[in-house]
Amino acid sequence: MKLNRRYFLYSSSCACAQRAIFPFLTASMALQSTSANAAIPEMKAVQVSANAYFVQGLAALGSKENQNFISNAGFVVTPKSVVVIDALGSPSLAQRLVQLIKTITPLPISHVIVTHYHADHIYGLQVFKDLGAHIIAHSASGEYLNSDTATLRLKASRDELSPWIDENTRLVVADEMLKGFSPKNLQVNGIDFYIAPAGPAHTPEDLVIYLPAEKVLFAGDLVFRGRLPFVGGADSKHWITSLNKLLQFDVAVIVPGHGAQSSAASAKADIELVRNYLVYLREQMGAAVKNLESFDEAYKATNWKAFENVPMFGFANRMNAYNTYLLMEKESL
Ligand SMILES: [Zn+2]
Repeated sequence: MKLNRRYFLYSSSCACAQRAIFPFLTASMALQSTSANAAIPEMKAVQVSANAYFVQGLAALGSKENQNFISNAGFVVTPKSVVVIDALGSPSLAQRLVQLIKTITPLPISHVIVTHYHADHIYGLQVFKDLGAHIIAHSASGEYLNSDTATLRLKASRDELSPWIDENTRLVVADEMLKGFSPKNLQVNGIDFYIAPAGPAHTPEDLVIYLPAEKVLFAGDLVFRGRLPFVGGADSKHWITSLNKLLQFDVAVIVPGHGAQSSAASAKADIELVRNYLVYLREQMGAAVKNLESFDEAYKATNWKAFENVPMFGFANRMNAYNTYLLMEKESL
């Protein structure tokens, strides 16, 4: 696959530099939770099918207070081992996930499939690597891992997310990489995992994972539910195409990268909400670029009513619109 580098406009990370401050947490309470490694926020396993589970991160930006627990991770219990999907946003969160899995099964964790290399999905990888898990990702993750963005993001996170991210937190390269657009049928102890490249969309290296026997789709950050998506340096044009492909999966459940699971009844509407938002951003910002309007003018003139009540609108929308404006400029060249 030939990657289109022009879309790398921004240092994309879901746990981007902004921080959500939880006004109800006093400094001493936050310190308490830090020193005691208290279970704040709560992490619980949600079972979505016979063998598949996930934990749901908060609809927030990464912060010391929430320990960067802002994304989901899934796991599937096979007859002899556990397959984890995404590694959460810090080693301590990953350790908590490992402990949580132990309350459900004594089986070892054999694999981790990484939907994409954004900080809030990968900073826990080292925990699984140290347990001997086989890590699978898309080869386009190399673009991120070898970038200044990854190095600077980790450096900033050591400050912003201390002590959850520290000098011992490291970036982990996958053991096995999918290439191009070729899907992989992974069979683990008799359970089939259909792993499909979906990028460049939210990131160049997006993977989605489908369990045909249980009709569960782990959609990574192609799907955000209950909050506005993070667009960053995404290729929104191809993201829309990929979402249209997701609509063709026969699903009982979709586990998104952020937010609660979608049932078969709500899956279509949930995917369409993300798709319609991306389409709208592109239409509005595309028209502004065509008409030589400045971003500020265009942003003010755009009617955001359909999305302004979606959580994270205040944090994300202007940045999403700006990134889309830049993208539409590039696409118009
Ligand atoms: Zn992401």
